[in-house]
Amino acid sequence: MQIIEQIADMRRWSEGERRQAHRIVFVPTMGSLHEGHLSLVRDAKTRGDRVVVSIFVNPMQFGPSEDFAKYPRDLPRDTSMLEALGVDILFHPTVAEIYPVGYQTHIEVENLSVPLCGMVRPGHFRGVATVVAKLFNIVQPHLAIFGEKDFQQLQIVRRLVRDLSMDIEIVGHPIVREADGLAMSSRNAYLSIEERRAAVCLSRALCKVEKLVRRGETSAAVLLHWVTAEIAQEPLAQIEYAKLCDADSLQDIDRVQGAAVLALAVRFGRARLIDNRVIKN
Ligand code: AMP
Repeated sequence: MQIIEQIADMRRWSEGERRQAHRIVFVPTMGSLHEGHLSLVRDAKTRGDRVVVSIFVNPMQFGPSEDFAKYPRDLPRDTSMLEALGVDILFHPTVAEIYPVGYQTHIEVENLSVPLCGMVRPGHFRGVATVVAKLFNIVQPHLAIFGEKDFQQLQIVRRLVRDLSMDIEIVGHPIVREADGLAMSSRNAYLSIEERRAAVCLSRALCKVEKLVRRGETSAAVLLHWVTAEIAQEPLAQIEYAKLCDADSLQDIDRVQGAAVLALAVRFGRARLIDNRVIKN
């Protein structure tokens, strides 16, 4: 595996691969890799000829009081994990390489960035959309894989690619969970032992909703009542939001009709966890 830090080198490599008609699959990450990321990489291996993984903790998507400085980083461990999976390129640019002095251009996916995490993390999705557009321009992939764990991010990237006429296929990858149901996340490392145990309530609440919908319940008010009741049983959990939305527009809905998404953001101490389930009736 080759590690590339410079934009020009990354672009030169991709141009060479494209000239040989190789299909480039891209998995963007912020590092501190876990089995969820690795599952995306394994998926990537099956979808093309070359796999590029990026590790870039993007300062633009963190708010001033968020965890950019403390975000877990472990490049040697990440490198050996990616090497073992047979990744071709690890793209690991510096912040100065991505945002040189004088940087002032941003991408905003307007409506999809407003609800859910957009409400509580102003500017977050502007940072995500900007860095994803830049990484796509640099890596020039044919296909890119994103986790459904960050469901709003996935929908924003799909919209961005369509709106900016980028010739890149976007693939969503199912949420990878721990044995007890907790969605894997780099931020799970912030949980104390008690918080880790309590955090299972997110996936428990999502399973409960799925069961209720299967039994015929469609009312958002009723479903959200059960979700919040389930999570409220854990004194360590502080709900930031629990929403039932249309899976495409992410607008609140009153009833489940077609594809809906139940989206959760819950704080446990200094860890902010998100999870979701797509529900169809
Ligand atoms: P991150 O490093 O958190 O920015 O995540 C990089 C990519 O991995 C994003 O597309 C995430 O949605 C995806 N991802 C992170 N955790 C999981 C998970 N538990 N299951 C599936 N995808 C995930």
